[in-house]
Amino acid sequence: MATNRDYYEILGVDRNASEADIKKAYRRLAKKYHPDMNPDSENNEEIEHKFKEATEAYEVLSNEEKRAKYDQFGHAAFSNGGGGGYSDFDMGDIFGSVFGDFFGGGMGQRQRTGPMRGADVRTSIEITFDEAAFGVDKEIDLMLRESCTTCSGTGAKPGTEAQTCQHCHGSGQVRYNQNTLFGSMTSVRTCDVCRGEGKIIPNPCDTCHGEGNVRARKTIQVNIPAGIDHGQSIRLQGKGEPGQRGGPYGDLLITVGIKPHTLFERQGYDVYCKMPITFVQATLGGQVQVPTLDGKVEYSIKEGTQTGTVFRLRGKGIPNLRNPKIRGDQYVTVSIDVPTKLNDEQRKKLEEFAKISGDDVHPQRKSFFDKVKDAFGEALN
Ligand SMILES: [Zn+2]
Ligand SMILES: [Zn+2]
Repeated sequence: MATNRDYYEILGVDRNASEADIKKAYRRLAKKYHPDMNPDSENNEEIEHKFKEATEAYEVLSNEEKRAKYDQFGHAAFSNGGGGGYSDFDMGDIFGSVFGDFFGGGMGQRQRTGPMRGADVRTSIEITFDEAAFGVDKEIDLMLRESCTTCSGTGAKPGTEAQTCQHCHGSGQVRYNQNTLFGSMTSVRTCDVCRGEGKIIPNPCDTCHGEGNVRARKTIQVNIPAGIDHGQSIRLQGKGEPGQRGGPYGDLLITVGIKPHTLFERQGYDVYCKMPITFVQATLGGQVQVPTLDGKVEYSIKEGTQTGTVFRLRGKGIPNLRNPKIRGDQYVTVSIDVPTKLNDEQRKKLEEFAKISGDDVHPQRKSFFDKVKDAFGEALN
Protein backbone atom coordinates (compact mmCIF):
# COMPACT_ATOMS: atom_id res chain seq x y z
CA MET A 1 0.00 0.00 0.00
CA ALA A 2 1.41 3.30 -1.03
CA THR A 3 -0.57 5.59 1.22
CA ASN A 4 -2.18 5.99 4.61
CA ARG A 5 -4.23 8.99 3.60
CA ASP A 6 -7.97 8.76 3.39
CA TYR A 7 -9.03 7.61 -0.05
CA TYR A 8 -11.96 10.02 -0.24
CA GLU A 9 -9.67 12.85 0.74
CA ILE A 10 -7.12 11.84 -1.90
CA LEU A 11 -9.73 11.93 -4.62
CA GLY A 12 -11.38 15.04 -3.16
CA VAL A 13 -14.84 13.52 -3.06
CA ASP A 14 -17.25 13.11 -0.18
CA ARG A 15 -18.25 9.79 1.37
CA ASN A 16 -21.49 9.63 -0.58
CA ALA A 17 -19.84 10.25 -3.93
CA SER A 18 -21.32 8.28 -6.83
CA GLU A 19 -19.30 5.91 -8.98
CA ALA A 20 -19.32 8.52 -11.74
CA ASP A 21 -18.02 11.23 -9.37
CA ILE A 22 -15.19 8.96 -8.26
CA LYS A 23 -14.23 8.18 -11.82
CA LYS A 24 -14.36 11.83 -12.77
CA ALA A 25 -12.20 12.81 -9.80
CA TYR A 26 -9.66 10.14 -10.65
CA ARG A 27 -9.49 11.19 -14.28
CA ARG A 28 -8.80 14.75 -13.22
CA LEU A 29 -6.03 13.72 -10.82
CA ALA A 30 -4.50 11.14 -13.13
CA LYS A 31 -4.29 13.68 -15.88
CA LYS A 32 -2.64 16.11 -13.51
CA TYR A 33 -0.16 13.67 -11.98
CA HIS A 34 0.52 11.14 -14.73
CA PRO A 35 4.29 11.02 -15.26
CA ASP A 36 3.81 11.56 -18.99
CA MET A 37 2.01 14.81 -18.25
CA ASN A 38 4.88 16.15 -16.19
CA PRO A 39 7.96 15.56 -18.24
CA ASP A 40 9.99 18.48 -17.00
CA SER A 41 8.94 18.58 -13.37
CA GLU A 42 11.66 18.65 -10.74
CA ASN A 43 9.41 16.88 -8.24
CA ASN A 44 9.06 13.73 -10.26
CA GLU A 45 9.00 11.46 -7.26
CA GLU A 46 6.36 13.43 -5.45
CA ILE A 47 4.21 13.59 -8.56
CA GLU A 48 4.59 9.91 -9.18
CA HIS A 49 3.61 9.25 -5.57
CA LYS A 50 0.48 11.36 -5.98
CA PHE A 51 -0.39 9.49 -9.15
CA LYS A 52 -0.01 6.13 -7.44
CA GLU A 53 -1.96 7.34 -4.43
CA ALA A 54 -4.85 8.47 -6.61
CA THR A 55 -4.80 5.22 -8.55
CA GLU A 56 -4.80 3.20 -5.35
CA ALA A 57 -7.73 5.21 -3.97
CA TYR A 58 -9.59 4.77 -7.23
CA GLU A 59 -8.86 1.05 -7.35
CA VAL A 60 -10.60 0.62 -3.97
CA LEU A 61 -13.43 3.13 -4.26
CA SER A 62 -14.43 2.09 -7.78
CA ASN A 63 -15.00 -1.47 -6.58
CA GLU A 64 -18.25 -1.85 -4.66
CA GLU A 65 -17.03 -4.66 -2.45
CA LYS A 66 -13.70 -3.03 -1.62
CA ARG A 67 -15.34 0.30 -1.01
CA ALA A 68 -17.78 -1.27 1.49
CA LYS A 69 -14.85 -2.88 3.34
CA TYR A 70 -12.94 0.35 3.34
CA ASP A 71 -15.95 2.28 4.67
CA GLN A 72 -16.22 -0.17 7.54
CA PHE A 73 -12.57 -0.85 8.43
CA GLY A 74 -10.55 1.88 6.75
CA HIS A 75 -7.03 0.95 5.59
CA ALA A 76 -7.02 -1.96 8.03
CA ALA A 77 -9.35 -3.74 5.61
CA PHE A 78 -6.47 -4.18 3.21
CA SER A 79 -3.50 -4.83 5.44
CA ASN A 80 -2.35 -8.19 6.83
CA GLY A 81 -4.43 -10.21 4.46
CA GLY A 82 -7.55 -8.24 5.29
CA GLY A 83 -8.90 -8.91 1.83
CA GLY A 84 -7.53 -6.33 -0.56
CA GLY A 85 -3.79 -6.41 -0.76
CA TYR A 86 -1.94 -5.02 -3.68
CA SER A 87 -0.01 -8.03 -4.81
CA ASP A 88 -2.37 -8.06 -7.77
CA PHE A 89 -2.39 -4.31 -8.05
CA ASP A 90 -2.00 -3.57 -11.71
CA MET A 91 -1.69 0.11 -12.37
CA GLY A 92 -1.67 -0.33 -16.13
CA ASP A 93 -5.00 -2.19 -16.08
CA ILE A 94 -6.76 0.31 -13.87
CA PHE A 95 -5.40 3.22 -15.77
CA GLY A 96 -6.27 1.61 -19.09
CA SER A 97 -9.83 0.85 -18.00
CA VAL A 98 -10.41 4.52 -17.23
CA PHE A 99 -8.54 6.14 -20.07
CA GLY A 100 -8.56 3.50 -22.75
CA ASP A 101 -6.13 4.31 -25.51
CA PHE A 102 -6.19 7.97 -24.76
CA PHE A 103 -2.46 8.15 -24.20
CA GLY A 104 -1.81 6.34 -27.44
CA GLY A 105 -0.11 3.43 -25.76
CA GLY A 106 2.18 5.70 -23.78
CA MET A 107 2.07 3.35 -20.82
CA GLY A 108 3.00 0.38 -22.94
CA GLN A 109 5.85 2.16 -24.64
CA ARG A 110 7.48 2.79 -21.30
CA GLN A 111 8.37 -0.89 -21.31
CA ARG A 112 10.47 -0.51 -24.44
CA THR A 113 13.55 -0.02 -22.36
CA GLY A 114 12.76 -3.09 -20.23
CA PRO A 115 13.36 -6.75 -21.09
CA MET A 116 11.64 -7.89 -24.27
CA ARG A 117 10.89 -11.45 -25.33
CA GLY A 118 12.64 -12.60 -28.50
CA ALA A 119 10.73 -13.20 -31.73
CA ASP A 120 9.31 -16.58 -32.69
CA VAL A 121 11.07 -18.34 -35.55
CA ARG A 122 9.18 -20.44 -38.08
CA THR A 123 10.50 -23.29 -40.13
CA SER A 124 9.14 -26.43 -41.76
CA ILE A 125 10.11 -30.06 -42.10
CA GLU A 126 8.98 -32.79 -44.48
CA ILE A 127 8.47 -36.30 -43.16
CA THR A 128 7.15 -39.57 -44.58
CA PHE A 129 3.63 -40.93 -44.14
CA ASP A 130 4.90 -43.62 -41.77
CA GLU A 131 6.96 -41.17 -39.72
CA ALA A 132 3.87 -39.02 -39.25
CA ALA A 133 1.84 -42.07 -38.26
CA PHE A 134 4.22 -43.43 -35.65
CA GLY A 135 6.30 -40.40 -34.66
CA VAL A 136 9.98 -39.77 -35.30
CA ASP A 137 12.97 -37.93 -33.87
CA LYS A 138 14.49 -35.49 -36.34
CA GLU A 139 17.30 -33.01 -36.47
CA ILE A 140 16.85 -29.67 -38.17
CA ASP A 141 19.75 -27.48 -39.25
CA LEU A 142 18.96 -23.80 -39.40
CA MET A 143 20.45 -20.38 -38.93
CA LEU A 144 19.34 -18.90 -35.62
CA ARG A 145 20.22 -15.82 -33.69
CA GLU A 146 21.83 -16.42 -30.34
CA SER A 147 23.09 -14.16 -27.61
CA CYS A 148 26.63 -12.94 -28.40
CA THR A 149 29.12 -14.61 -26.07
CA THR A 150 31.81 -11.96 -26.60
CA CYS A 151 29.75 -9.17 -25.02
CA SER A 152 27.23 -11.34 -23.13
CA GLY A 153 24.48 -9.84 -25.25
CA THR A 154 25.11 -6.23 -24.25
CA GLY A 155 26.39 -5.20 -27.69
CA ALA A 156 29.23 -3.19 -26.09
CA LYS A 157 32.89 -4.04 -26.58
CA PRO A 158 34.17 -5.92 -23.49
CA GLY A 159 35.46 -3.37 -20.98
CA THR A 160 33.14 -0.65 -22.28
CA GLU A 161 29.55 0.07 -21.49
CA ALA A 162 26.42 1.27 -23.18
CA GLN A 163 25.63 4.86 -22.28
CA THR A 164 22.37 6.52 -21.46
CA CYS A 165 20.95 8.29 -24.49
CA GLN A 166 21.38 12.03 -24.02
CA HIS A 167 18.48 12.86 -26.26
CA CYS A 168 15.78 11.01 -24.28
CA HIS A 169 17.69 10.67 -20.98
CA GLY A 170 17.37 6.91 -21.15
CA SER A 171 13.58 6.72 -21.34
CA GLY A 172 13.62 5.73 -25.01
CA GLN A 173 10.91 8.32 -25.61
CA VAL A 174 10.68 11.99 -26.29
CA ARG A 175 7.72 14.11 -25.29
CA TYR A 176 5.95 16.58 -27.48
CA ASN A 177 2.85 18.71 -27.28
CA GLN A 178 -0.31 17.54 -28.97
CA ASN A 179 -3.77 19.05 -29.25
CA THR A 180 -6.35 16.63 -27.90
CA LEU A 181 -9.86 16.44 -26.56
CA PHE A 182 -8.59 17.78 -23.25
CA GLY A 183 -6.72 20.66 -24.81
CA SER A 184 -2.99 20.79 -25.35
CA MET A 185 -1.32 17.78 -23.82
CA THR A 186 2.09 16.25 -23.76
CA SER A 187 2.41 13.05 -25.73
CA VAL A 188 5.33 10.70 -26.25
CA ARG A 189 7.03 9.14 -29.22
CA THR A 190 9.95 6.80 -29.64
CA CYS A 191 13.35 8.48 -29.46
CA ASP A 192 14.97 8.26 -32.88
CA VAL A 193 18.53 8.74 -31.64
CA CYS A 194 18.54 5.46 -29.67
CA ARG A 195 15.53 3.95 -31.52
CA GLY A 196 13.70 3.59 -28.20
CA GLU A 197 16.47 1.61 -26.53
CA GLY A 198 17.28 4.40 -24.06
CA LYS A 199 20.96 3.59 -24.54
CA ILE A 200 23.61 4.07 -27.15
CA ILE A 201 26.74 1.99 -27.58
CA PRO A 202 29.81 4.14 -28.25
CA ASN A 203 32.14 1.12 -28.72
CA PRO A 204 30.20 -1.69 -30.34
CA CYS A 205 31.29 -5.29 -29.82
CA ASP A 206 33.39 -6.53 -32.77
CA THR A 207 31.68 -9.90 -32.90
CA CYS A 208 28.05 -8.79 -33.09
CA HIS A 209 28.58 -5.16 -34.23
CA GLY A 210 26.50 -3.91 -31.31
CA GLU A 211 23.51 -6.13 -32.00
CA GLY A 212 24.03 -8.22 -28.87
CA ASN A 213 23.36 -11.38 -30.85
CA VAL A 214 24.85 -13.28 -33.76
CA ARG A 215 23.54 -15.66 -36.40
CA ALA A 216 24.80 -19.18 -36.07
CA ARG A 217 24.01 -22.52 -37.68
CA LYS A 218 22.32 -24.72 -35.13
CA THR A 219 21.12 -28.27 -35.03
CA ILE A 220 17.79 -28.60 -33.29
CA GLN A 221 16.48 -31.94 -32.04
CA VAL A 222 12.76 -32.31 -32.54
CA ASN A 223 10.53 -35.11 -31.38
CA ILE A 224 7.60 -35.42 -33.77
CA PRO A 225 4.70 -37.14 -32.03
CA ALA A 226 2.76 -40.04 -33.55
CA GLY A 227 -0.42 -38.96 -35.30
CA ILE A 228 0.68 -35.52 -36.43
CA ASP A 229 -1.10 -34.39 -39.59
CA HIS A 230 0.00 -32.40 -42.62
CA GLY A 231 0.22 -28.67 -41.82
CA GLN A 232 0.29 -29.02 -38.03
CA SER A 233 3.05 -27.30 -36.07
CA ILE A 234 5.28 -28.19 -33.17
CA ARG A 235 6.32 -25.42 -30.77
CA LEU A 236 9.73 -25.62 -29.16
CA GLN A 237 9.74 -23.18 -26.30
CA GLY A 238 12.75 -20.93 -25.96
CA LYS A 239 14.37 -22.05 -29.25
CA GLY A 240 13.56 -18.86 -31.15
CA GLU A 241 15.37 -15.52 -31.23
CA PRO A 242 17.07 -14.20 -28.10
CA GLY A 243 15.21 -11.57 -26.10
CA GLN A 244 16.41 -8.01 -25.69
CA ARG A 245 17.81 -6.55 -22.49
CA GLY A 246 17.67 -9.87 -20.69
CA GLY A 247 14.24 -10.88 -22.00
CA PRO A 248 13.52 -14.57 -22.64
CA TYR A 249 14.04 -16.34 -25.98
CA GLY A 250 11.10 -16.65 -28.37
CA ASP A 251 9.82 -20.02 -29.58
CA LEU A 252 10.63 -22.13 -32.62
CA LEU A 253 7.57 -23.24 -34.60
CA ILE A 254 8.05 -26.18 -36.92
CA THR A 255 5.32 -26.86 -39.47
CA VAL A 256 5.17 -30.47 -40.56
CA GLY A 257 4.61 -31.47 -44.19
CA ILE A 258 3.85 -35.11 -45.02
CA LYS A 259 5.05 -36.67 -48.27
CA PRO A 260 2.35 -38.58 -50.16
CA HIS A 261 2.40 -42.37 -49.80
CA THR A 262 2.32 -44.63 -52.84
CA LEU A 263 -0.49 -46.79 -51.43
CA PHE A 264 -2.21 -44.92 -48.64
CA GLU A 265 -4.20 -41.77 -48.29
CA ARG A 266 -5.12 -40.22 -45.01
CA GLN A 267 -8.27 -38.52 -43.75
CA GLY A 268 -7.98 -37.56 -40.10
CA TYR A 269 -6.82 -40.74 -38.38
CA ASP A 270 -8.25 -43.10 -41.01
CA VAL A 271 -6.23 -44.59 -43.85
CA TYR A 272 -7.67 -45.32 -47.29
CA CYS A 273 -6.28 -47.59 -49.97
CA LYS A 274 -7.28 -49.47 -53.10
CA MET A 275 -6.78 -53.20 -53.37
CA PRO A 276 -6.83 -55.10 -56.68
CA ILE A 277 -8.01 -58.71 -56.59
CA THR A 278 -8.36 -61.21 -59.41
CA PHE A 279 -11.78 -61.93 -60.88
CA VAL A 280 -11.40 -65.49 -59.64
CA GLN A 281 -10.81 -64.27 -56.06
CA ALA A 282 -13.79 -61.97 -56.43
CA THR A 283 -15.98 -64.76 -57.70
CA LEU A 284 -14.94 -67.64 -55.47
CA GLY A 285 -13.69 -65.68 -52.46
CA GLY A 286 -10.37 -66.41 -50.77
CA GLN A 287 -7.52 -65.16 -48.63
CA VAL A 288 -5.72 -62.01 -49.73
CA GLN A 289 -2.79 -60.09 -48.27
CA VAL A 290 -3.64 -56.47 -47.50
CA PRO A 291 -0.87 -53.90 -47.01
CA THR A 292 -1.26 -51.87 -43.79
CA LEU A 293 0.96 -49.50 -41.82
CA ASP A 294 1.88 -52.51 -39.67
CA GLY A 295 2.80 -54.69 -42.65
CA LYS A 296 0.68 -57.21 -44.54
CA VAL A 297 -2.39 -58.73 -42.94
CA GLU A 298 -4.58 -61.61 -44.13
CA TYR A 299 -8.14 -60.88 -45.11
CA SER A 300 -10.88 -63.23 -46.32
CA ILE A 301 -12.58 -61.98 -49.44
CA LYS A 302 -16.19 -63.10 -49.52
CA GLU A 303 -17.51 -65.13 -52.43
CA GLY A 304 -19.11 -62.85 -55.02
CA THR A 305 -17.30 -59.65 -54.01
CA GLN A 306 -18.05 -56.80 -56.40
CA THR A 307 -15.68 -54.11 -57.57
CA GLY A 308 -16.00 -51.01 -55.37
CA THR A 309 -16.71 -53.03 -52.23
CA VAL A 310 -15.16 -51.39 -49.17
CA PHE A 311 -13.99 -53.35 -46.18
CA ARG A 312 -12.70 -52.00 -42.91
CA LEU A 313 -9.68 -53.07 -40.89
CA ARG A 314 -10.31 -51.80 -37.39
CA GLY A 315 -7.43 -50.11 -35.59
CA LYS A 316 -5.11 -50.20 -38.60
CA GLY A 317 -5.23 -46.42 -39.08
CA ILE A 318 -3.12 -43.63 -37.61
CA PRO A 319 -2.51 -43.38 -33.84
CA ASN A 320 -4.35 -40.49 -32.19
CA LEU A 321 -2.10 -37.52 -31.48
CA ARG A 322 -3.43 -37.18 -27.93
CA ASN A 323 -3.66 -40.86 -27.15
CA PRO A 324 -1.52 -43.07 -29.40
CA LYS A 325 -3.23 -46.20 -28.05
CA ILE A 326 -6.34 -45.21 -29.96
CA ARG A 327 -5.97 -45.68 -33.70
CA GLY A 328 -8.15 -44.90 -36.68
CA ASP A 329 -9.29 -47.58 -39.14
CA GLN A 330 -8.17 -48.61 -42.59
CA TYR A 331 -10.69 -48.67 -45.42
CA VAL A 332 -9.88 -50.86 -48.37
CA THR A 333 -11.70 -50.41 -51.68
CA VAL A 334 -11.67 -53.53 -53.82
CA SER A 335 -11.08 -53.35 -57.56
CA ILE A 336 -11.21 -56.38 -59.78
CA ASP A 337 -8.40 -56.97 -62.24
CA VAL A 338 -9.63 -58.16 -65.59
CA PRO A 339 -6.99 -60.36 -67.24
CA THR A 340 -5.72 -58.92 -70.50
CA LYS A 341 -3.56 -61.74 -71.76
CA LEU A 342 -5.08 -65.21 -71.74
CA ASN A 343 -3.31 -68.31 -72.96
CA ASP A 344 -5.20 -70.81 -75.08
CA GLU A 345 -6.14 -73.06 -72.20
CA GLN A 346 -7.45 -70.18 -70.09
CA ARG A 347 -9.45 -68.83 -73.00
CA LYS A 348 -10.95 -72.27 -73.69
CA LYS A 349 -11.93 -72.72 -70.06
CA LEU A 350 -13.57 -69.31 -69.93
CA GLU A 351 -15.49 -69.95 -73.10
CA GLU A 352 -16.71 -73.22 -71.57
CA PHE A 353 -17.63 -71.27 -68.45
CA ALA A 354 -19.61 -68.80 -70.54
CA LYS A 355 -21.42 -71.60 -72.35
CA ILE A 356 -22.48 -73.43 -69.22
CA SER A 357 -23.48 -70.13 -67.60
CA GLY A 358 -25.90 -69.46 -70.47
CA ASP A 359 -24.10 -66.25 -71.28
CA ASP A 360 -26.36 -63.29 -70.70
CA VAL A 361 -28.89 -65.15 -68.56
CA HIS A 362 -26.77 -64.22 -65.53
CA PRO A 363 -29.36 -62.68 -63.17
CA GLN A 364 -27.50 -59.45 -62.51
CA ARG A 365 -26.66 -58.99 -66.13
CA LYS A 366 -30.28 -59.60 -67.03
CA SER A 367 -31.55 -57.00 -64.65
CA PHE A 368 -29.01 -54.54 -66.03
CA PHE A 369 -30.25 -55.00 -69.59
CA ASP A 370 -33.80 -54.74 -68.40
CA LYS A 371 -32.96 -51.30 -67.03
CA VAL A 372 -31.37 -50.29 -70.33
CA LYS A 373 -34.51 -51.39 -72.10
CA ASP A 374 -36.66 -49.38 -69.72
CA ALA A 375 -34.50 -46.33 -70.25
CA PHE A 376 -34.10 -46.40 -74.02
CA GLY A 377 -36.94 -48.63 -75.18
CA GLU A 378 -34.61 -51.12 -76.83
CA ALA A 379 -32.04 -53.71 -75.80
CA LEU A 380 -28.37 -53.28 -76.55
CA ASN A 381 -28.03 -56.76 -78.04
ZN1 LIG B 1 17.15 8.15 -26.90
ZN1 LIG C 1 28.71 -8.88 -29.03
